[in-house]
Amino acid sequence: MTLPARVAPDQALFQPVDRCWVCDETRLERFHECRFDFREYAKQDPELDSYTGRTAWLVRCAGCGFGQPDALPTLPRFFDRMYDQRWSEQWVEREFESDYKDFIFGRILGELERRVTARPRRLLDIGAHAGRFMHVAQRAGWIVEGIELNPRTAACAARRTGAPVHQVNAHTLASGLRRFNAITLTDVLEHIPEPVALLTTVAKLLEPRGWIAVKVPCGRSQWHKERLLSAISPSREISLAGNLVHVNHFTTASLKTALERAGFDEVQIGTAAPELVPRDCSALQRVASNAVRLGVYWAARLPGGVDTPLALNLQAYARFPRR
Ligand SMILES: [Zn+2]
Repeated sequence: MTLPARVAPDQALFQPVDRCWVCDETRLERFHECRFDFREYAKQDPELDSYTGRTAWLVRCAGCGFGQPDALPTLPRFFDRMYDQRWSEQWVEREFESDYKDFIFGRILGELERRVTARPRRLLDIGAHAGRFMHVAQRAGWIVEGIELNPRTAACAARRTGAPVHQVNAHTLASGLRRFNAITLTDVLEHIPEPVALLTTVAKLLEPRGWIAVKVPCGRSQWHKERLLSAISPSREISLAGNLVHVNHFTTASLKTALERAGFDEVQIGTAAPELVPRDCSALQRVASNAVRLGVYWAARLPGGVDTPLALNLQAYARFPRR
């Protein structure tokens, strides 16, 4: 699909962001202009569609390397409205059944099992989607709960796991009494502006000395990958943050800083496991594609590999030090 025509800037539609969300640095350098395209929302949400053709710059922090927009839309609940996807029930069920993220989930649970010695052990999955990770964690012996704001995926997660799935944000849940030994944010933190504020709230949901596991795309590696793909296929648009879906672009340094500023210690960051081709695809496609994905992953797991463009995703573990 081609990009929509560019529309002249309208400053009332954007609020400038003038400091790094991670380290407060004000030296921010533009590196990519993204153009909004909400044409598919034309009927569902005309106000959101009014951003179609407008642009926002992504900027990189000179202090910590973090990437973020230099302005945010002023439309109330912009991100909630963008994520108000009305998926079919069949699609949501397939998301629960599909095993394409099970390798990632298995690696995360293995690492958390080594760290969490309390029994029983309670886990909260923030951004639980259709509930697949909650299900896999239950099978591994965890008592699980989830946070999921989309009503269709939340309903599936609750029905398929029989576990509580809260349709509230982390801040609301933290005002109650629930506390967990481990909290996971897998492919979630890149979507939420001001990530340190969210991590600070998440810390309040942990038991003393509880662990957090955070998986995010590596901003710089994704940028290299997009530029490479666009060089191979010049008609391909660089799509780094269409519609600001990825609003945060982490590096290893900025992810570590974000966790430390939220009060975590013992921060460890490595290359995250990749999604794999699911079992219901053809065997040939699965074997060939997974060999490449796993090859890149294991290469990026070698010493120093996390700081190379091979580390397409980052996986952090950190402990909250409250005693
Ligand atoms: Zn910074």
